[in-house]
Amino acid sequence: MDCVFCNIIKDNKVIIAENELAVAFYDNFPVSKGHTLIIPRRHVETYFDLNEEEMKAIFNLSQEVKKILAKLYKPDGYNVGFNVGVDGGQTVMHCHMHVIPRYHGDALNPRGGIRKVVKNEKKY
Ligand code: AMP
Ligand code: ZN
Repeated sequence: MDCVFCNIIKDNKVIIAENELAVAFYDNFPVSKGHTLIIPRRHVETYFDLNEEEMKAIFNLSQEVKKILAKLYKPDGYNVGFNVGVDGGQTVMHCHMHVIPRYHGDALNPRGGIRKVVKNEKKY
């Protein structure tokens, strides 16, 4: 099986942080400065396929990644999350957490963040 993220783990060249069960690297089509992905070392398709140890490893690593991003880029906020399934927006079928730094003024109206991935006419 040829998986682009499994290959990143094998190459071990672009990893910015890691632990026993998870690795982090920059997204190569970043939606903002510092956009980072955190993946389990084991190939599983989605967030819901992770075991408890892998979940812990990914969430622990996200705290480390946040420290790195805060130091390097000083973002004003973050979006953190998983796309699950093609209809959930997932394009690479190796589970990954997006850590997306956000910057004041990078969106006309940031209110709602990831809640706005589905267009909703109602104001909240
Ligand atoms: P998703 O749409 O949630 O599956 O996100 C996949 C992400 O992987 C996208 O943000 C892509 O820019 C990113 N991506 C795809 N290939 C690579 C790669 N070789 N190295 C780093 N990021 C990648
Ligand atoms: Zn994989």
